[in-house]
Amino acid sequence: MSTLYSKNLQSVANTGKINHSFMKIVRFSIDDKVKHGILKGKTIQAIEDKPYRYIKPVDQHYKLSDVTLLPPSAPSKIVALGLNYHSHAEELQAPLPDAPLIFLKPSTAVIGPEDNIVYPPSSGRVDYEGELAVVIKKPSWRVSIEDAPDYVLGYTCFNDVTARDLQYADKQWTRAKSFDTFAAIGPCIETELDPGNVDLETYLNGELKQKGNTSDLIFSIPKLINFTSHVMTLLPGDIITTGTPSGIGPMYPGDKVEIKIKLIGTLRNYVVKNDR
Ligand code: MG
Repeated sequence: MSTLYSKNLQSVANTGKINHSFMKIVRFSIDDKVKHGILKGKTIQAIEDKPYRYIKPVDQHYKLSDVTLLPPSAPSKIVALGLNYHSHAEELQAPLPDAPLIFLKPSTAVIGPEDNIVYPPSSGRVDYEGELAVVIKKPSWRVSIEDAPDYVLGYTCFNDVTARDLQYADKQWTRAKSFDTFAAIGPCIETELDPGNVDLETYLNGELKQKGNTSDLIFSIPKLINFTSHVMTLLPGDIITTGTPSGIGPMYPGDKVEIKIKLIGTLRNYVVKNDR
């Protein structure tokens, strides 16, 4: 038994509260209430409060089929990476960056599992970008690389939806990356994951389009937390999405897009036409 696991059992025995290892955390709505819980197969056990300071299961159990899964966190901001996979740099024939290239996506872009990605009328090319995202656990300011893992609640799937034509047309990426529905997150936050060796796949209408592993990252996740937290304070629930591997491509209304990370699950969304 690992030291970490022993520590968890000890923690449960002493306080009834468990720390952040070995679980899938979901955020969901039922009867017009928003709750957090731990996903166990096809059931959810609710927890007291949000999962950031502590995780304490309570005696409320729900069937997964009876609830609506929401984005697993409600971030104040999303920090995204411009170019962070060797394979993607090769695909673009772009030189490797000397430092992480970060940009922001607004909280208003966030959608959850099974939600619609809305094609904006001003774009003729909207792309998927399958990514592994980090969910921040506590306020993070000038965090060292060594301490970075202590600031992580867990990991989730992310689709960094991008209006590619507008990205090329603009010098800044804000417009291309920020439309409502352009930040799909979920389905859960996995707290126990080795972020240095995660397989990631993107499927469009069931066809494999992207296949990467985080061992191909140019800047590691601890480095990204270190770098970003020297720029801005990261808050509980904030997200750093770590960049996309090779194989980016377009989606069109009617398409189904899925980001799959085996240890987390599948983030599934549907592309629809803007009807307004
Ligand atoms: Mg991206």
